[in-house]
Amino acid sequence: MDNVWKKYEDDDLNRLNEICDDYRKFLSVSKIEREVVKNSILLAEEKGFRNLEEWIREGKKLSAGDKVYVNNRGKSLALFVIGEKDITEGINILGAHVDSPRLDLKANPFYEEDEFAYLDTHYYGGIKKYQWVTLPLALHGVVVRKNGEVVPIVVGEDESDPVVGITDLLPHLGKEQMKKEASTVIEGEKLDVLIGSMPLKEEEKDAVKKNIFMILKNKYGIEEDDFLSAEIEAVPAGKARDFGLDRSMILAYGQDDKVCAYSSLRAFLDCPPCSKTISCILVDKEEIGSVGATGMCSSFYEYAIEEICELLGHTERTAIARCLSASCMLSSDVNAAYDPLYSDVMDKRNASYFNHGVVFCKYTGSRGKSGSNDADAEYIAKLRNIMDHGNVHFQISELGKVDAGGGGTIAYILANKNVNVIDCGVGVLSMHAPWEVTAKADIYEAYKCYLAFLQEA
Ligand code: MN
Ligand code: MN
Repeated sequence: MDNVWKKYEDDDLNRLNEICDDYRKFLSVSKIEREVVKNSILLAEEKGFRNLEEWIREGKKLSAGDKVYVNNRGKSLALFVIGEKDITEGINILGAHVDSPRLDLKANPFYEEDEFAYLDTHYYGGIKKYQWVTLPLALHGVVVRKNGEVVPIVVGEDESDPVVGITDLLPHLGKEQMKKEASTVIEGEKLDVLIGSMPLKEEEKDAVKKNIFMILKNKYGIEEDDFLSAEIEAVPAGKARDFGLDRSMILAYGQDDKVCAYSSLRAFLDCPPCSKTISCILVDKEEIGSVGATGMCSSFYEYAIEEICELLGHTERTAIARCLSASCMLSSDVNAAYDPLYSDVMDKRNASYFNHGVVFCKYTGSRGKSGSNDADAEYIAKLRNIMDHGNVHFQISELGKVDAGGGGTIAYILANKNVNVIDCGVGVLSMHAPWEVTAKADIYEAYKCYLAFLQEA
């Protein structure tokens, strides 16, 4: 397998740069799941998609070529284009997740200590805690007032905004700290975000914290109590950037799994009319086990297909079972790319490499494939054929050495519904770190792969 840059002609390079530039811009304004869903709906509506609820309300039947989406609580999204073939002949599904590791604010986040105001956090997903100190952080999310009004919050992204962050001990006094294991050198309870140091003149107690509240009240009209019903995430501040002096890579927060979410959505929206129904799922909560109403384990996706079946005139009880059993899915999620600095955790013959194309992963899991979806050989053979036909450069890998650890994705969840599923995505360096790295050539090949899959699976 060759480095795919060597194979590109000018047409490829132009298309690659166009897609990667759009991806970088999308990523810079789509750091958390709610922002991804909102911005994805905007892109879909530009292409003529409409909310399925409108369809249901109007009692309109669906037919081939119709484009609909289901917005699940603003945190996950399912899009469909109805095909010529009957829906019981199956759907070609792309599924990615749009949540990423971060620091969530606790329900009672504010406190003042020795004239500093802090936000108390509870980390979300698998992080190396020591990576999150001394970084510029931004706050993204929503505060929901008692009357139901949703106040969106983004602080720290505009050039003129302040940023916040977590302090660390100076090395001069870090002798004891440096003896600790990496997992405890920064403890979860110490990941508290410093947000202010200026007291209100006329206040005796918590004067710094009170000053912060005055600022929040003036800017957003919110009170301390309103944070009881809020979801605010502290994430690395700043835009996605070209990475490398040759600009061959992208550095950004949250590329697991927005690199696959964006390339899947882009391929889905660019896809010409298909004979089968096609779908793209962008889902929340993968990093903590796909739990909750907005995670992949929720029934929302099946409910959406049930609604669609009914609007297509399928009222028989078996329609959804037949549809899912005939469906194919790519679980679009990232893979741990080979890193020469950490080659000891990789099996070189079964690793994924930067610039070697989109990565198929037959199984993930840990301790002997536990928790994985093991895609069957027949399905992989079919996909190999589609990739070759679509001139897609791909590689097949595992997630690191057998006993090195492991991980999971949403693949097994739809597989449990009897859908044919395999993991398929982009290799990442520094996965789950505040700033992750991907290769542009792999993003382009993922896009081509998803496009070929939607049309031919
Ligand atoms: Mn992932
Ligand atoms: Mn992950």
